Amino acid sequence: MTISIDSNSGFCFGVTRAIQAAESELQKGSLYCLGDIVHNGQEVARLELKGLATIDYDDLRTLPSHSRVLLRAHGEPPSTYWIAQQRGIEIIDATCPVVKKLQDRIRACYETHKNDETVPPQIVIYGKPGHAEVIGLQGQTNNTAIVIESVDQLDRLDFHRPIYLFSQTTKSVEGFHALVEAIKSKISNLKSPIALEAHDTICRSVANRVKELQAFARANDIVLFVGGTKSSNAKVLYKNCVEVNPNTIFISSPDEVEDKLSTLNFQPSTRVGICGATSTPLWLMEAVSERLSAS
Ligand code: SF4
Repeated sequence: MTISIDSNSGFCFGVTRAIQAAESELQKGSLYCLGDIVHNGQEVARLELKGLATIDYDDLRTLPSHSRVLLRAHGEPPSTYWIAQQRGIEIIDATCPVVKKLQDRIRACYETHKNDETVPPQIVIYGKPGHAEVIGLQGQTNNTAIVIESVDQLDRLDFHRPIYLFSQTTKSVEGFHALVEAIKSKISNLKSPIALEAHDTICRSVANRVKELQAFARANDIVLFVGGTKSSNAKVLYKNCVEVNPNTIFISSPDEVEDKLSTLNFQPSTRVGICGATSTPLWLMEAVSERLSAS
């Protein structure tokens, strides 16, 4: 059996930057993080051992003033900054610059059109409802943006009002274009077509991974996809691997290696590939590799 780790898998730029910020700020004193810093339980545990305390919104409202709170790469809605300011909390803002730019674009669009009373516009976000990044994006529109996940939800839009479409950074490019085509097709049947502005705001750091990941999955007999169960990106990329290699197994921790692989028949020539999501640390893929070698 040969084992290889995909060199293109692992943290994206935004997550790496947030983790570096946390490690550097922890050297200065106590630090809280609003929500899991990354959707990977093992990496969260590693940083918690160094002193990072993960908190939720209720905790934020009761922290003593001068506490230091790190905002993760997903970004936050304006209300979070407001609460922090009211409570005298110091914000360490590790919002990914790509997400920040998207928040700014959505806010500018909202501010430009919010007073169009004759035909009130709709800001639509192609994304996962309740996802931290999406909550941050909705917040830029005073929570008026409509979030849809697929073409099946188009009945939630009013095709008599202009549509300004944006995407959560980690959604699939194909899904976004399918949505745009479906909206165009609805509009083309109208007597007086409405305006559609579609902004493809998908992060290429993720989108470009699909091809590389699928090439890696094809090149192996068995693929171990390492990812956190809470990570949307992990779910999407895992599905991309399964599409090209049905022998792809989702695994969250080295402890699952024996159980998940017990039914498989390994030959000396079996090629096992280990890959992961943008939230999967390299050290975790290496730990899975070591466990596999030892089993
Ligand atoms: S996926 Fe892209 S936008 Fe999202 S945190 Fe990573 S680099 Fe930033």
